[in-house]
Amino acid sequence: MNTMNESLHHTATVCAVCHDQCVSACPVVEATHRMSAYPSRLAMLALEVHRQGLPVDADLSRALLDCIDCGACLEGCLYVDRPNDVTPVVRWARQASAQYAPSGLQAWSQRVQATGSPYPGVSEQLAALKSALPSGEHSSPPLLLYVDAATLHYAPAMALAALQLLQSAGKLNVVLADAVYPGGEWYQYGQQDDFVAAARRLAGELAAIQPAKVVALNPYSAYLLREVYPAQAGVRLEAPVLTLAEALVDAIHGLPGAAPRKVFLVQSACESYRMGGGAGQALLEKAGAQVSGKRDELTFREMSYPDGEVFGLEPDPRLWIQKRILGAFQRSGAEVLVTTSPMALPALRAAAPGHPVMDLATYLQGPG
Ligand code: SF4
Ligand code: SF4
Repeated sequence: MNTMNESLHHTATVCAVCHDQCVSACPVVEATHRMSAYPSRLAMLALEVHRQGLPVDADLSRALLDCIDCGACLEGCLYVDRPNDVTPVVRWARQASAQYAPSGLQAWSQRVQATGSPYPGVSEQLAALKSALPSGEHSSPPLLLYVDAATLHYAPAMALAALQLLQSAGKLNVVLADAVYPGGEWYQYGQQDDFVAAARRLAGELAAIQPAKVVALNPYSAYLLREVYPAQAGVRLEAPVLTLAEALVDAIHGLPGAAPRKVFLVQSACESYRMGGGAGQALLEKAGAQVSGKRDELTFREMSYPDGEVFGLEPDPRLWIQKRILGAFQRSGAEVLVTTSPMALPALRAAAPGHPVMDLATYLQGPG
């Protein structure tokens, strides 16, 4: 077993002796009412694993699954200026009990190993998207639009809209990657070897393409490629990596005429908690939208959707999050809910039939 390094040990100790100021922000505690899901209890468990004070078994593995890596506790942390992030501590402890990984995660990994994607139908979606790429010779280096498996599965129309938006912004030399699974769940659930392999596979493909920049359509992929790959997998990409909002913020000049203007923005949790708040609001305002339910009026948890899949955790805390988001949307009086998260799109649509819910790219394209 890898030993817990000094930095993780410090992080774990700070949370373990704390009185959980952040607990009211944690959607898993709200959903499950399990005291073992309190961030400080997760830190205590990890410290016990470190000092080998607990048997590494299925019970331990089960308890350590009570974190979806959303980062909401960062917003509630009593260390306001430098919140203490418990999630790497939980991931470290999960690695120690990896042999007891939930069946859902094992089946997930088997699908990725066999087909390159955890979801069915992704290679067909990718082929359809490739057929929409403009043809012709280009002298400038390409822009790589990174469309991950989750986006192809949950929001294929978002990928096509993003491609068309980039083209209308003058980016004609666009290419796509074949390595569609960036390894996010493997990272979240502590499958470090598989995660590093996924990072290296994608980095190898990008090294062959040599794009001028990478635009990652799923903000969680941008976070992985930009921040997690170098820090946790030792993989540094040469090209700058941007979210779609970051890539478009200087290239958008006004919304198409009939687009609804009053917008409630839902970002992915990694943008809110780990990437400085995201560029969605700035982009929408630059395009002429009025963003209601802004950061100074709401907490991030009412406007952020968790990234990645949840394994072995019932009830699913995302249902609580959906309820909060939709309540805030309805109170805001906005005409449309716009999200940067491909995973949030079908979930929020299903939870709010009759309410307009759009992805960022489709919204910016405008009606028709
Ligand atoms: S994240 Fe902050 S508030 Fe929450 S348990 Fe850790 S130190 Fe305490
Ligand atoms: S990352 Fe999310 S699920 Fe995990 S302890 Fe923090 S708030 Fe709870």
